[in-house]
Amino acid sequence: MSLPADCLFCRFVSGEIETELVGQSERAIAFRDINPQAPLHVLVIPREHHADVAALAASDPQGLADLVTLAQEVAFEQADGEYRLIFNSGPSAGQSVFHVHGHVLGGERLGWSPA
Ligand code: 5GP
Ligand code: ZN
Repeated sequence: MSLPADCLFCRFVSGEIETELVGQSERAIAFRDINPQAPLHVLVIPREHHADVAALAASDPQGLADLVTLAQEVAFEQADGEYRLIFNSGPSAGQSVFHVHGHVLGGERLGWSPA
């Protein structure tokens, strides 16, 4: 697991690296993915560092619930409220940033091609 000091998404949370937020709550922020895979592609992340969704669920279940709530708010504000929420967990599942983030995808009829 990356140390928070080396974590890109912790730098977004702290403001050390500026990023435009499309939503936020007390415990989480939302910003657009730099490499969008759908018309709506936003990342929702907790302000606290946790490596993946299971770590977040184990140590802060309410934080995970808040993340889901923020994902839904963003989907309603930026699209039609229908969305897919994905947590890649582990490198072979495609996780490349080890600060838990939910991909909020929507804005069109989505296909299903996880591989
Ligand atoms: P993962 O591959 O870990 O599930 O998702 C990481 C996501 O972070 C990728 O979809 C990637 O495009 C996005 N990402 C990586 N670096 C940046 C960045 O500097 N800014 C933004 N907005 N997204 C990033
Ligand atoms: Zn972090």
